[in-house]
Amino acid sequence: MTRTIGVLALQGCVEPHRAHVEAAGARLLAVKTAAEIAAADALILPGGESTTMLRLLRVFGLWDALASAVREKPVWGVCAGAILLAQRVENPTQDSLGVLPMTAIRNAYGRQRESHRAQVAGHPVAFIRAPKFADLGPGVEVLARAGAEPVWVRHGNAMATAFHPELSGPMPSPVHRAFAGPHALP
Ligand code: GLN
Repeated sequence: MTRTIGVLALQGCVEPHRAHVEAAGARLLAVKTAAEIAAADALILPGGESTTMLRLLRVFGLWDALASAVREKPVWGVCAGAILLAQRVENPTQDSLGVLPMTAIRNAYGRQRESHRAQVAGHPVAFIRAPKFADLGPGVEVLARAGAEPVWVRHGNAMATAFHPELSGPMPSPVHRAFAGPHALP
């Protein structure tokens, strides 16, 4: 059966995931309600602005539904989404769903001007006001680094990328293939 990958669609970079998820052989559902979160087999928390997403999760009453879903289903946080998944957030401190044992240091590469492209796992990706992942807990697997920095990590059901792989081809990106493909992690 085709898997349904939900992408949280309150704010941020949602639609560019569609073609990658479809190229990986799954279906993409933009989710905005608790019922849609429940209908997804796995969830992408997209890039965008984590403070805005936190606020909208409260405004739309989705916090509890999402907090339990990310403990039950495979979840992938992209950039701001990774910040939402981290157990600790710095620069500044803020609330999070707390499933990935690491510290996300927001905007750690600098401002918009320091945003850049790089090759990660053989794919051209974008770092856009990206966080750094620090203090990785035991059992956190590093799937890719950029230089010395861990930029693609995984722990149990939860995966995070500091970068956006969805803004460039070829499709599917290695991260979409790992998350949504027929041999998907975890
Ligand atoms: N700087 C943003 C934040 O702190 C993340 C940027 C992104 O998702 N590309 O939430």
